[in-house]
Amino acid sequence: MLVRFFGTRGSLPAPLSGAGVKAKIRDALVKAIGQDLTSPEDVDRFMADSLDFAAQSTYGGDSSCVEIDADTDSYIVCDAGSGLREFGNRVMRAPAPGKQKVFNLFMSHVHWDHIMGFPFFVPAYIPGNRILIHGCHDVAVMKEAFNRQQSAPCFPVNFGQLGSTIEFVQLEAGKRYDIAGVSVTTKAQNHSGDSYGYRFEQNGRSVVYSTDSEHKLDSLDETDAFIAFFHGADLVIFDAMYSLADAFSIKEDWGHSSNIVAVELCQRADAKRLALFHHDPNSDDVTLSKILDDTIRFEDISDAGSGLEVMTAYDGLEVTL
Ligand SMILES: [Zn+2]
Ligand SMILES: [Zn+2]
Repeated sequence: MLVRFFGTRGSLPAPLSGAGVKAKIRDALVKAIGQDLTSPEDVDRFMADSLDFAAQSTYGGDSSCVEIDADTDSYIVCDAGSGLREFGNRVMRAPAPGKQKVFNLFMSHVHWDHIMGFPFFVPAYIPGNRILIHGCHDVAVMKEAFNRQQSAPCFPVNFGQLGSTIEFVQLEAGKRYDIAGVSVTTKAQNHSGDSYGYRFEQNGRSVVYSTDSEHKLDSLDETDAFIAFFHGADLVIFDAMYSLADAFSIKEDWGHSSNIVAVELCQRADAKRLALFHHDPNSDDVTLSKILDDTIRFEDISDAGSGLEVMTAYDGLEVTL
């Protein structure tokens, strides 16, 4: 399986500003002072050796959308945040754009940052395409959310006027399903209005998509249930929106979790890789890189370093399982 991240922000898209780009260019040029850069190859080498991720790239600004590419006939996508727009564009650029396609969307929940990309999802406008919107919320709740955001006076094209065939599929929390050639297990999570995680498995590989989930580690039963849900996963995509201090103080009960809780749960679950996800729109690239460094350091010193690989998800990241 291949996991592609199209949107990794939480709450609201947060694009890099012009001032942010300018600051990166300036910092890079300052670092280049005194370097012997006389050819494009020299510049490539300098960038690879001397500029870290935040200095030469960006974690991106789109809200939650992740593709699980299981090399099957239909697409599997988690959440329809603003990153869904670029996912749709990629599908349209792929060979045979006219061929009718099937998309399986798995909704963590229907808060706006997780559905706002749908009105800009080009394949939804194409007759013959089929879109299955899976979720553990009541179908009526999911339908209302998609219909409301795509209706007057907020949007010019009503949800009901889209050219594709759209069906809502009711799933139950705590159950396992075979959908689109993969095994899918669902899990209820602690979040305002409820949210649900999904564990996808195929040919002995597994990825867990668990966002918008607050973990109260004082509940042993709840913690054990998540450890079982994450157990042995090749990749856990985890809502690490806040710092630990925030998560347990001013932002307690805001429905999100922290990088430290992410490491603790993944270590205890013997997960192999952890992708920090649902980034705070207030965190710039330098801040997100620092959070990653801190998280890796915490992983190293805790539990004698379980060998858990920690990464920060960014728009455009691809992880092969
Ligand atoms: Zn969210
Ligand atoms: Zn939410």
